[in-house]
Amino acid sequence: MEVETSRRKFLQGTITMSVVGATALSTNLLSSGDGQSAKPGAISFHNTKTGNGSSHEVATLCEMCVNKCAAMARVENGVVTKLNPNPMFPKSKNMLCARGNAGIQALYDPDRLKYPMIRIGEKGEGKFRRVTWDEAYNAILNGTDKFPGLKQILDEEEDNRSSMLFCAGEGMAEHTFKQFFEAFGSANWLNHSSICLQTVASGYGVTLGMYPQADLDNAEYIIIAGANRAEAIVTPDTMDAFKRTKGRGAKMICIDPRFTNTAAKSDKWLAIKPGTDLAFVLALTYVTLTEELHNKAYVEKYFNGFEEYKNSVISNNYTPEWAEPITGIKAKDIYTIAREFAAHAPKAVYYPGRRSTFAKNDFQLRRAMAIFQALHGAIDTKGGLIFGDKLDIKGHAGLAPLYERARARAIVKRTDQKGEPGYDDCAVVSGGGSWIGWRNRYLEDKMPYKVRGMFCYKHNPMMNMPNTAKTAQMLKKMELVVTIDTMPSDTVMFADVVLPECTYLERTDPVKTFGGIEPSIAVRNKVIEPMFESKPVMEILKGLTTKISKPLFEISKKYDEEVQDMIEDDGEEEVYAEFDLTLPFKHTQEELNHHAVEMYPGAAEKLHKYGVFYPNQDEYYKQLSVNEYQYYPENKKFYSVGGGKPKTPSGKIECNIESFADMGVDPMPVWRDEYNYSVPAGKFRLLSGRHAQFTQSGTVNNAMLLDLMPENFIWINKRIAQEKGIKFADMIEVSSSIGKVQLKAYPTEKIAPDQVFFIHGFGAESEELTWAYKNGGNDNTIIEDHIEPVYGAAAMHETNVEIRKV
Ligand code: SF4
Repeated sequence: MEVETSRRKFLQGTITMSVVGATALSTNLLSSGDGQSAKPGAISFHNTKTGNGSSHEVATLCEMCVNKCAAMARVENGVVTKLNPNPMFPKSKNMLCARGNAGIQALYDPDRLKYPMIRIGEKGEGKFRRVTWDEAYNAILNGTDKFPGLKQILDEEEDNRSSMLFCAGEGMAEHTFKQFFEAFGSANWLNHSSICLQTVASGYGVTLGMYPQADLDNAEYIIIAGANRAEAIVTPDTMDAFKRTKGRGAKMICIDPRFTNTAAKSDKWLAIKPGTDLAFVLALTYVTLTEELHNKAYVEKYFNGFEEYKNSVISNNYTPEWAEPITGIKAKDIYTIAREFAAHAPKAVYYPGRRSTFAKNDFQLRRAMAIFQALHGAIDTKGGLIFGDKLDIKGHAGLAPLYERARARAIVKRTDQKGEPGYDDCAVVSGGGSWIGWRNRYLEDKMPYKVRGMFCYKHNPMMNMPNTAKTAQMLKKMELVVTIDTMPSDTVMFADVVLPECTYLERTDPVKTFGGIEPSIAVRNKVIEPMFESKPVMEILKGLTTKISKPLFEISKKYDEEVQDMIEDDGEEEVYAEFDLTLPFKHTQEELNHHAVEMYPGAAEKLHKYGVFYPNQDEYYKQLSVNEYQYYPENKKFYSVGGGKPKTPSGKIECNIESFADMGVDPMPVWRDEYNYSVPAGKFRLLSGRHAQFTQSGTVNNAMLLDLMPENFIWINKRIAQEKGIKFADMIEVSSSIGKVQLKAYPTEKIAPDQVFFIHGFGAESEELTWAYKNGGNDNTIIEDHIEPVYGAAAMHETNVEIRKV
């Protein structure tokens, strides 16, 4: 579909800079330590410096994983010598995990990207030439003898801005990069959501109205299924969960195919067959409904489609006896769990999880979990799932011109299911898109128009997308690949132009609001000046847009008749103002942050000093014991914001979404035969997951963390290993239909005989990564690209593999 918005309409709708205007700002409040001379008024929480020289501390936020814990960075003579937890932040509660402490290594990693580079070898070969920033920007605009520049691409594509793809990984500055994407005018955006929380967030979103948090501090009963918190992400809420298990206030039931560390810390572990959690939840629901354990008053008030769902669950006979052979969990355990959950409700939590999509039924699983939770009225209430509150901050969108000739997002309508709207590879296209769906369409030449280049920010699809070989093909096929990153990742090796970003300790990021029971605002303050020639993405984009804005406008002038007419009417200068790509980057991040919180008196000072702000902070914040803090008094916490009312547009829990049927999606969660788990004889189901010391591929070159776990091993059932003559640390080749990897064996009883498992993120192929290069195995080399059918997420646990001792 072409963009239909008329130019006039567009002009009315153009978002202009709402920031700061001509007001002179006092920015020193949010600009923090420069590492050389700054004395940012920092309070000293842990000033245990080791040297004799002067030191100061800067409040900042960790970026070693997504959690964004608050940290105090100690700086001695311009060197960051220690990262300590910052007790002021309700979200992180004075905790900084092993990864957080190892942030110093990310800063001082000798392999860091240090200066801009241009490709001189073959694509993917990793041969680059060091250049100045201006040369790099020039190469992006004009190309070299190895690759075309933006000018050529957009001229040949007659100003179709969507001929450039933009993709980004998660991070506080993703928004900054997205402003470039919006100003540039492409419709093709991909982020990490389809390999992360897409189906979880959407499943809960359409059912409850939002993806909720779990009040693990007050829950009395917790089902944690497929969420391996004790190993995957050790955050304060993880600690909250485990400090109360085993007779200390909460009973935790762990449902997982493997005996994980979470299983070890739970009160009960039940091994489930991979991909069958939906059958387990449907059977729990069956018990709840047939024994009338649900909260009838809540259901009466807040449910849409309850009777239809009840009829579906009962008429389909989703009994615990039905679920037993499907899931591998005994019927009597399912009865017990359903009854115990109801007995503790509303202080009971079926933990929503924070993981990627494992099976193709994941969206329906999340819907079933949300409905099961809501049946007990355990929504928006203490000890259950909570919506919490959020502090507003002022946005500062920059510029979103509509280019008449920019084509709509490159998606392909369904051709095989007549009458059903939807797309070739999934029913719904979310904001973040389907990464592997998009990639596969691109490789199969199914795109509605040519996409010829991409900007890739803080993102490593070579390691993180299933089917690495296809991702390599995609990157080779792209005529212009620009990467902005801190490390020479496998993806960077395929770049034509490499722009080095500084690490999180060398930049101020957009201020962020954190919702929940104890809402707050926090900021990542710059700790020291950027090292080498690296820059924050804000400055990188400022330089790039200064170079490309006018020349690209010349192309719009050439092809866009509306632009031509407007110039005739209003003059070129006035029209260009609407297309000036530099506009979003005119102000510093510190200025924008100041503007974002200016409605809260004193917030800027607090964010500078503590990195954290919330109303009445001075009055509320108290240290209660050695490592216990009060952020909000109990009676001021936001356990409930609507008395249990769901956040859906209807204000109801949506059991039966009839409009889904039109898209070929089940309106209610039901079990289908194709969801049954089976592995052919001689093969194994490949499971992958995370480790507490590593964040995907982003930390695998971190020497401090590799001290804790030097490489990833493959878990193999002990009996199977014996049968195959495999001993601990023997080298194993693991192969699937798409590739092979080698890594060392870990025979164990903690996994079933027909499954194998290894940690994601290892096995990099970039020779520029001293510690990560060929260290262990990359799971995505062998994970097949199975696409979840509703949102196009990557279904990570649908691949069968063979193993052999090398
Ligand atoms: S959990 Fe650890 S790595 Fe993640 S933000 Fe917190 S301290 Fe950093």
